[in-house]
Amino acid sequence: MERDVNENVIYGCYMDDRNFWSPNADQVIQRILRWQLWSEKMGLRENPLKTQVTSRTMHDYQLLLSKAPQWAKPEVKLLGVTTTTRSRVNSDSENTRIFEAMQRARALFSLPLGWEQRVRAYQSFVLSKAAYGWVGHNPLLNQGNKLFSLLSTSLKQQRMGSREIKKIFFGVPNFLPIVLTTRRYARVARNLRRPNSPKWLTAAFCSVSILRKELRDLGFTEIFPWYWKMSQPWYNLVKNDERTLDLRTSHQPVDLALHNIRTLFRWRCFERFVNHPKRRDSEWLRETVGIDASLQAFACVSGYYRAVAFASFLSTAARWSGHHEADLVGAEDCCPLCASAVGFHHHLFWDCPQNIPPNGRPPDNPLQERFGWFTLGDNSIENHAVCDHMTRTASRILTLRHDGGAEGSID
Ligand SMILES: [Zn+2]
Repeated sequence: MERDVNENVIYGCYMDDRNFWSPNADQVIQRILRWQLWSEKMGLRENPLKTQVTSRTMHDYQLLLSKAPQWAKPEVKLLGVTTTTRSRVNSDSENTRIFEAMQRARALFSLPLGWEQRVRAYQSFVLSKAAYGWVGHNPLLNQGNKLFSLLSTSLKQQRMGSREIKKIFFGVPNFLPIVLTTRRYARVARNLRRPNSPKWLTAAFCSVSILRKELRDLGFTEIFPWYWKMSQPWYNLVKNDERTLDLRTSHQPVDLALHNIRTLFRWRCFERFVNHPKRRDSEWLRETVGIDASLQAFACVSGYYRAVAFASFLSTAARWSGHHEADLVGAEDCCPLCASAVGFHHHLFWDCPQNIPPNGRPPDNPLQERFGWFTLGDNSIENHAVCDHMTRTASRILTLRHDGGAEGSID
C-alpha cells in the first residue's frame, strides 16, 4: 500500500489511525476498499463504522453522498481534531476542550504555587489543552480572553490592572490567540519544506489563508508571497532583523520569525494601552519607554514590583486608590507613612517626607513615575533606583495595610 502512493495522495498514519487525502473521490473509495482487504488478509480487526470521508466543497460532498453514503460525514474527526470544510461554529469537541481547559485553570487557583510555577503550570496544563487541534478554524476571541482572565485571577492580578499590560508582562505565550498564530506559522514553515508544500492561497479555511489574515490583523504587510514586513510605525521601532517574516527560503530561522510575531504583538498591546483616551502624549511615550528592559526587570524582581508595574497595586492598597489628590476629594484616608497628607499615588511614591525617592524627585517620564517602567537610553542606574524605590514603597504600604503595623521585608 505504502509503495502505491502517487503524488496526488497524501498519507498520514498515527498508531492504528490511518488517513489520506486525494483530489479524486473514486480514488478515495478504491483505496478504502483496498485497505479493508489488506487488513482482513493480515487478520487485523478494524471497525468499519469508524471510516469517515469528507470533502472541501458542497458539490463534492453531494458526489460522495451518492457514491459512499455509509462513509460520508460533513466533518471528520481525526485524533480529536475536527476538520473545517465550510464555515462553522465550534464543534462539540472543541467547546469541550476549551471548557476542560477552563476547569483546569480554576483548579490551579487552589494550589499553593509561586508565580513562576503558576505560569508554567498554566502553560503545560491549561494552554496546551486549549491550543490543541485548531487547524482550519480558530476559537472565539472571547474564549481566549476568558482563559487569560483565569490566569490573571489565579495570579491574583485581576482587579483594575489593564489587560493589555498584563498580556505584555505575563508573557505572550500565555495568550491563546497568539499561541495559535505562532504554532500555525511554524506548521506552515515546516510544511513548506516538504513535498506537496502549501500554496500561497486565499481559499477559506486553509492554514495559509488563516495565517495571512492573522498576520495582517497584527500589523504585518505582505511584500511578496511568503515575505512580510512590519507596517509603520513599528517598522522603525524595532531592530533590523526583527522587522520581517520570511518563509521564501529557510534563510530566516523560524524561532526568529516567531519572536518577531510576539514582538509586534507586545507593541500592539502597549499601544492599545498608551493610546487609551485617558493617556495623552502617546507618541512621545512610545519612544521613551523601554519595554524590553522593563520585562527583564519584571522577570527578576519581587511581586511588589509586579503589582506596581501592572497597575494592580492600587487595587490591593484600596484605601489609597487615587493617583492625584483630586481623585480623592472627600477621602479621609491619610498616607500611612507620614500620616499628614492624603495618601494618593503620587504622594506615596514621590512626595512623602517619610519616603524620600532617589534624587529626591519623581522621574520625568510619566509612565515611569506611575508604573516604574524602565525608560530608553543610557540610564540603567536610574531605572534600577526607581524600580527599587517603588518596590520598597509598595512593600511597606502593603505590609502596613495587611499586618496593621510593623513593616516587613521585601519578598
Ligand atoms: Zn506621606
